[in-house]
Amino acid sequence: MTERFDGSFTQQEPIPEEGIAAALDVLRHGRLHRYNTVPGEAGETALLEEEFAAATGARYCLAVASGGQAITIALRAAGVKPGDPVLTNAFTLAPVPGAIAAVGGQPVLIETTPALTIDLDHLAECARATPEARVLLLSHMRGHICDMDRLMELCRDAGLAVIEDCAHTMGAAWNGTPSGRHGLMGCYSTQTYKHMNSGEGGLLVSDDAEAMARAVLMSGSYMLYERHRAAPPAEAFEPLRLDVPNMSARMDNLRAAILRPQLAGLGARCDAWNARYRCVEAGLRDLPGLSLIARPEAEAYVGSSFQFLLPDWDARAIGTLIQNCAARGVDLKWFGADRPVAFTSRYDHWRYAAPAPLPQTDRVLAGLIDMRLPLTFSLEDCALIARIIRSEVLSLQGSAAQPATDPAPQPG
Ligand SMILES: *Cc1c(COP(=O)(O)O)cnc(C)c1O
Repeated sequence: MTERFDGSFTQQEPIPEEGIAAALDVLRHGRLHRYNTVPGEAGETALLEEEFAAATGARYCLAVASGGQAITIALRAAGVKPGDPVLTNAFTLAPVPGAIAAVGGQPVLIETTPALTIDLDHLAECARATPEARVLLLSHMRGHICDMDRLMELCRDAGLAVIEDCAHTMGAAWNGTPSGRHGLMGCYSTQTYKHMNSGEGGLLVSDDAEAMARAVLMSGSYMLYERHRAAPPAEAFEPLRLDVPNMSARMDNLRAAILRPQLAGLGARCDAWNARYRCVEAGLRDLPGLSLIARPEAEAYVGSSFQFLLPDWDARAIGTLIQNCAARGVDLKWFGADRPVAFTSRYDHWRYAAPAPLPQTDRVLAGLIDMRLPLTFSLEDCALIARIIRSEVLSLQGSAAQPATDPAPQPG
């Protein structure tokens, strides 16, 4: 019998009851705007910031309207000006080069390794070739973390400030340091498909008082920044308050109320993701023609999505595999498609970034398959998904060995 999977790859878990109750409280009192508080009330947004700062060990935290806004504000806070080059990963999601474009910067795209991380040799080369670049926007795309020790040393030597895009690494760490805590600023997303879900939303952390005071003012604090609980002291705002524009990108109390209980449960959810990740990984091990992504010892990852490579497969065979898996309910995404599909686009689709060809990234992306692992999947679901992919890969390899269209010459 042919097995089929009937779960949904886009169905996240419901909001915890505690979050629903807190959200109802906010709706009932009606003070949704973060600065609409009564005497003695902190407000859900300020409390979320305080709790997220504690969770990441950061001195300061700011909640904003989206992950993309967090990155845009971080770039400006780090001093990126129109026309400035900004180094960044070629393999990332479109809002990353989009944030660079939003501040008028020019993305300089860095090659991707088969481990799906930024190529540090190419980074060093581009840093030398672009000495006017002051910032690396490092995207831990799909949760893969590069050798952060080597990266930070390289960036120190090159005089590059590092902004981390942790949309897929909230809760992850490198050598015990939480993702987002290596560079000048760390940016997170709380959009529905990330590790905490408020529909849309973002968080920014830093230990740098001046950069964070800029960020708070830009997020739209007006002159109410003293109501924050995880912002720098008022003195840090004094020299900036009349110079930094208000870009209106605040988070509201409703979303913060939904997020606070999710933050309390983040560790347990990361463990649940990793159990699912390891289940799929075990089911796809030792499969000819399919390479798993190596996960270094120092990387404490969060397996909220799963990637594998089909090196040297031709595009037609990959298309057939995706179709065959889809017919059995397994939703795979491919980064090698000519045209952007749904959320999945590739660096050479971002025309505004004027991308030059990156042959190594092209090779990696041509065989890169991706799927989500929402926590609504059970471990049994994950084992089934791996069995389906496995059998479809094997059956295609079988047909490739004896192609129907090109039969071996028969004797006689
Ligand atoms: C989702 C995502 C973002 C942007 O987050 P939004 O909250 O959707 O703006 C940035 N980088 C990566 C890698 C992402 O996946």
